[in-house]
Amino acid sequence: MWPTLDHRGAVGKGVLDIPTAALSERVSLEAIAREVGTPCYVYSSAMIRAQYDQLKSAMGKLDVRLHYSVKANSSIAILALLRELGAGLDIVSGGELFRSLKAGYTGKDIVFSGVGKTEREMEEALRANVLLFNVESEQELHVLDAVAKRVGAKAPVALRVNPEVLVDTPHPYTRTGEKGMKFGIPFDEALSVGKVAASLPNLRLLGLDMHVGSQISQFAPYEVGLQRLLHLRREIERETKVRLEYLDIGGGLAVTYDASDRAVDVKQFGQVISALVGGAGLKIILEPGRFLVGNAGVLLTRVLYRKRSGGKEFIITDAGMTDLLRPSHYNAFHRIEAVNPTGRTTVADVVGPICESGDFLALDRQIDDAQPGDLLAVQSTGAYGFVMASNYNSRPRPAEVLVDGDKFAVITKRESYDDLVHNEIPPAWRSAQ
Ligand SMILES: *Cc1c(COP(=O)(O)O)cnc(C)c1O
Repeated sequence: MWPTLDHRGAVGKGVLDIPTAALSERVSLEAIAREVGTPCYVYSSAMIRAQYDQLKSAMGKLDVRLHYSVKANSSIAILALLRELGAGLDIVSGGELFRSLKAGYTGKDIVFSGVGKTEREMEEALRANVLLFNVESEQELHVLDAVAKRVGAKAPVALRVNPEVLVDTPHPYTRTGEKGMKFGIPFDEALSVGKVAASLPNLRLLGLDMHVGSQISQFAPYEVGLQRLLHLRREIERETKVRLEYLDIGGGLAVTYDASDRAVDVKQFGQVISALVGGAGLKIILEPGRFLVGNAGVLLTRVLYRKRSGGKEFIITDAGMTDLLRPSHYNAFHRIEAVNPTGRTTVADVVGPICESGDFLALDRQIDDAQPGDLLAVQSTGAYGFVMASNYNSRPRPAEVLVDGDKFAVITKRESYDDLVHNEIPPAWRSAQ
């Protein structure tokens, strides 16, 4: 039997024990690798749909919309798939706005987050009529007010507040809601910034927003953060007479990477959130990114070489940190499985071809004794995988493939050498005095 990409993005029998075999996609990863080449990302439509449905139904009767965080995986085909399910989007740049519109979303489907929006991006988002700007500082409010005046629009605003909660994530880089982070308005300034927002003529203050971090598996940061936001809402409404409509809880729900990781109890998450905000009379926004796509993707890579050095075993693959940055950047763990296991195992560093010692997919890993030519699947790479790919070492970025049932389709072509130099021009010197 051919190995299959199952609902966890796992190969064959899968390692994590979530028995939902009905969701299995029936495609051969070996066949895809042969047709499309390696490295390439492969995503499961069924898994994305299942994650979306699971989270949406966990929220019960709450007035909630899932605004998928585009930065997790911004392929237009993925965005379009989520649009069919009813998702809105959370974007962090003008480029993501451009993609979102290409995928068929309208401004009203979109909330615009980000700590450093430029005037150009604000203008584009105003012209697109986005649902909310999640504003992160008082200065940003003033700039947005001026841009809105110029455009002749009233900018819809939610204040992104730093709830200053302690968050336990696998890596400090994925914490955002602790005191002293660059994100959000410091909690003790939020009321006064709220008054400013309410007073500026070209803004409409409509909501509050938080985002506590990423790969979060406990609910305490959400609970504490939400309580703070609800308290702040009462203060702002009392002091400004503005009635807020939206409460944006952010993203951050964890997925499983290691076999020992426990899946987030989404039902319980829904209950916790509903208990806190069910009666608040607010429209709730969630911004899940990783949760919807993380476990839905694998990175396929072929073994190029084996070698031994300094008593250590190396498996050298055709994918490296330019294709999947997470191991190098976050010290992230991704399971790596042989698509056609040899039946023998070894302990090895799995490293890429890039000229950096920090270029690895796994260190000191018990893994199939894969030989040159063998195909490996790097698991759970649907989020923050392809989107973080770079051209370092002049490497074309990999292809992306979407699977649906027994069919597959290339949704992003592998870059060509021409693509690499596409924007480069011979210098045409001009004076800058
Ligand atoms: C990155 C991000 C998200 C999504 O985070 P996940 O951990 O992928 O769910 C949501 N909201 C904001 C503002 C973000 O920056």
